[in-house]
Amino acid sequence: MEREVTRRGVIELGMGAALAIPAAGAMADAAQAQQKSPGSVGYAVVGLGKLSIGQILPALKRTKNAHLAALVSGSPEKAKRLAAEYGLPETAIYSYDTFDSIAKDPNIQVVYIVLPNSMHADFTVRAFKAGKHVLCEKPMAVTLAECERMIAAGKAANRQLMIAYRCQYEPVNVTAMQIMRKGTLGTPRLVSAVMGKQTDLSDPSDVWRLDMAMSGGGALADMGIYGINATRYLLLEEPVEVRGWARTDRNDPRFKTVDDLIAWQMRFPSGAIGEGSSCFSQPGTMSWQAIGSDRRMVADPGCFYGGNSLRIVGGKNDPQPQVKEMDQFGNEMNWFADVVRGKSPNVSPGEEGLQDMRIIHAIQQSVANGGASVKIAGGYRRAYDPATTVGIRTSV
Ligand code: NDP
Repeated sequence: MEREVTRRGVIELGMGAALAIPAAGAMADAAQAQQKSPGSVGYAVVGLGKLSIGQILPALKRTKNAHLAALVSGSPEKAKRLAAEYGLPETAIYSYDTFDSIAKDPNIQVVYIVLPNSMHADFTVRAFKAGKHVLCEKPMAVTLAECERMIAAGKAANRQLMIAYRCQYEPVNVTAMQIMRKGTLGTPRLVSAVMGKQTDLSDPSDVWRLDMAMSGGGALADMGIYGINATRYLLLEEPVEVRGWARTDRNDPRFKTVDDLIAWQMRFPSGAIGEGSSCFSQPGTMSWQAIGSDRRMVADPGCFYGGNSLRIVGGKNDPQPQVKEMDQFGNEMNWFADVVRGKSPNVSPGEEGLQDMRIIHAIQQSVANGGASVKIAGGYRRAYDPATTVGIRTSV
């Protein structure tokens, strides 16, 4: 049965909202959730913008295996206010200039990079040099060379790099992957994804998203990446060829350097097709559907912070997936805590982030060439299938 989408008003503010959206179910017992497991991993959160303030810091209160250990910010006043709110001493506040001294801070094991995309690579490399593990927000970086530099730095430092693909730790998406693997839909034919929101140049959080140099690709890099990633994890294979087309009003002041609507197609070796779109001038949407020879499966919304839903259409009296909602940010940070403690495999390592960047760049290349077919090289194969690896934990 499709679950009622709760808190719709809040959720529809979606990706941009500077609101603490309590993930249903996970909030059950805040007092109990404050108790950390022995060996809980200390996180330094870098960049105190909408995602950090609205989702990550609140989620770190509830994680069992991870806790907030430091804040890194260019805004001392904001950092002081948040440190007081989250019970951190002022000695646990770093600026971008003093960041490298985290090397001497034994309370920090993980650096969580929540900065504009163009800053991911440098801060990842600096964190590795300081001997820390890195959880880095998506998209991994802006260029393929940056992604490769990040992966190499992690290997050189013998530290873990995980890309924060929260949907790979989110129950609706993991359940959907399990349904795909069981073959419930029959032979996969098509995965279709629609990702977008309305952007606003008066919002500083959108200003860098609308800047090609800082975002690496507007809506495609910011939100299209969820559709590309979902298509790949639902089909459990990698595209060999892509095409893309753009529709951008260059008179709109938002779209001076980035494209607005990009629609893409991806061809997979099995014969399945992926198609999707990303757009920065539409109401907030993060949905996908997978169509097989026998049934289709719809997730709409499929990738919001909360209130995602999943239903199967087409069979007679099919039981519908029953998915218990949980805090995907908490689940992801708990998972990475266990990765660095050697208790869980790294399901979304740097190579996974690089693969999406390869595809994004190929789509951009196709757009620039009027929709010409672009081959995807690289031979990437994911090391772990989230469907069988990421247990939907109840500890968050
Ligand atoms: P915001 O713009 O809201 O926050 C970014 C923060 O980075 C700023 O508040 C600021 O923090 C710091 N910063 C440092 N230098 C700059 C600069 N030159 N311009 C702007 N900010 C700067 O972005 P979000 O929080 O929405 O996104 C941050 C990252 O998280 C991005 O990579 C984005 O793609 C990703 N993201 C992922 C989501 C997910 O669901 N996984 C959802 C939303 C975003 P300070 O003032 O502390 O220095």
